[in-house]
Amino acid sequence: MDNNLILGIDLGTTNSLVGVVDAGFPILLADKNGERSTPSVVHYGSGGHITVGTAARRQQVLDSARTVFSVKRLIGRRPGESDWEPPYDLRVLGTTPSKVSAEILKHLKQVAEDSLGQNVSRAVITVPAFFNDAQRAATKHAAELAGLSVDRILAEPTAAALAYGLDQLGERKRVAVYDFGGGTFDISILEMRDGVFQVLSTAGDTQLGGDDIDAALVRYLKSKRDWTAAEDVAQDAAWTEAAERAKRQLSTHDSVEVILPFIDGSHSFHVVVERAELEQMARPFVDRTIKHCQRALHDAKLNVEDLDEVILVGGSTRMPLVRQRVRDAFKTEPNLSQNPDEAVAKGAVIQAGILSGALRQMILLDVTPLSLGIETFGGLMNIIIPRNSTIPCKAGEMFTNAVAGQESMLIRVLQGERELAKDNWELGRVEVPFPSGAKGTARVGVQFSIDADGILSVLARDTATGKDTVLEIQNTAVDVDDSRVEEMINASVEHALDDMNERIWTEAKMKSEELLAAVDEALPLVGDAVDTGAIRRASSAVREILEAELHDATALKRANATLDDVTQSLAVLLVERAMEEALDRKLGL
Ligand code: ADP
Ligand code: MG
Repeated sequence: MDNNLILGIDLGTTNSLVGVVDAGFPILLADKNGERSTPSVVHYGSGGHITVGTAARRQQVLDSARTVFSVKRLIGRRPGESDWEPPYDLRVLGTTPSKVSAEILKHLKQVAEDSLGQNVSRAVITVPAFFNDAQRAATKHAAELAGLSVDRILAEPTAAALAYGLDQLGERKRVAVYDFGGGTFDISILEMRDGVFQVLSTAGDTQLGGDDIDAALVRYLKSKRDWTAAEDVAQDAAWTEAAERAKRQLSTHDSVEVILPFIDGSHSFHVVVERAELEQMARPFVDRTIKHCQRALHDAKLNVEDLDEVILVGGSTRMPLVRQRVRDAFKTEPNLSQNPDEAVAKGAVIQAGILSGALRQMILLDVTPLSLGIETFGGLMNIIIPRNSTIPCKAGEMFTNAVAGQESMLIRVLQGERELAKDNWELGRVEVPFPSGAKGTARVGVQFSIDADGILSVLARDTATGKDTVLEIQNTAVDVDDSRVEEMINASVEHALDDMNERIWTEAKMKSEELLAAVDEALPLVGDAVDTGAIRRASSAVREILEAELHDATALKRANATLDDVTQSLAVLLVERAMEEALDRKLGL
């Protein structure tokens, strides 16, 4: 049994899916009937028996008051807070949205366990990007009720982008995720920053989905009846089922026959619906989604030209009309490489695989793609493990305090090839405390080690107290996208000269500061025993170059050398004086 197994779950408003990484590949798991998608429907039988999924959805026609669907619209909201009034009463059924969701999750857990032949207790679960803390917490609670601990709650658009492999696109790339499901529409604009997707903006409508198109089609079908009928809830479910099936068929066929034998016991219904007719009914709803897209772009302060990719998610995006409208609105061909109704689940599985380590083989390199180091005084990059070191590996260095009275040292762990710390990427930081003392008295050993799993441990030891501070950095030290590595290396080559000059300047500047401080301290003590004029001239030459901020390292180094020269006698004198004093003290003079 594999205790590290983590499920990826898309807990959808209409449909839910579960999967796992198997042999390095994300796969979705099918139930006993071979179905990978489970309707998010729970039926509470009057005898207390609970059914979930397809079996529960069948009850919608027979026992609609006890059949709970779209509970995701209610989760984490106070009664009355949702903009949706369900046709069932959860209190009468003795349940809550979290408990209903827990039933769906229990079912998915069971599907997974049957398929895998082992117990599982961990999961990554997706939620809409706009879910607030209460909605996320309620989803997590539902998982716990189902016996699942949640390793991560993942935003649906991020999951979809992962499934489409868009994490490989590289830094600053922007993606629009158009998600048109059963009951909700969401548009999210994402941007890749430092290897993770940031949501730049989201827009949408929690009351807009494929269900609306079904309802419009039902109205149309009913208008084609050649008999008059009273409203009947149970019959409505049958009409809706037929309409939804017809709608789906019209995504791949130009026309479809809708046949409902003895729909009300005595009449049979038969009509042919053309795709063009359905599209006319669907158009107003699709138009509304496009308005939201424009809003989201506006909020993100972007134009369609700024997007690198548009991806389609949700079953309703299988409609040719939707694809057409998205293509026109974004002026680009949407990426259709994934199943739109499975993309979110697949992304959840990929995230679960990354967290459990099951996807490691695919992403782990056996060398460090970029150098690793820490920032040192003056903002410079100090490399500890150079680029292309084979892992596992270990290396370390000793550091000291730059100023007197310092009580701690901030260790910024950096990755990259640039000379200045600010141009590299920060992987983490940790504060290392040590006893305060004069400049240069602290001794902090910093050791980097990368294990076979690509996990970087940074150990900082204060040699005076023997106290250790440890920082662990997950795969990021080793697992870097190829295009970002290339970008970093190109930048380091491009800026090589400037970077080098900047490093030499910074080093020379630190030397100047050291010399000037020593001179300022010593001069008042030596009086007229030495030629202070030459020393003063040399130090003001150094100060001038520093203040001019010309970053002229050569000039500064030359001035430093002069200052160093003329202060030689000063140092000798100071040492002589100090020795004389010590001798005097010893002799008791
Ligand atoms: P959710 O995210 O709300 O759980 P899904 O992504 O599973 O929803 O989408 C469900 C919706 O997609 C339903 O309205 C369903 O009718 C619609 N749908 C599924 N397949 C098709 C298809 N081939 N053509 C048109 N609509 C479809
Ligand atoms: Mg969905």
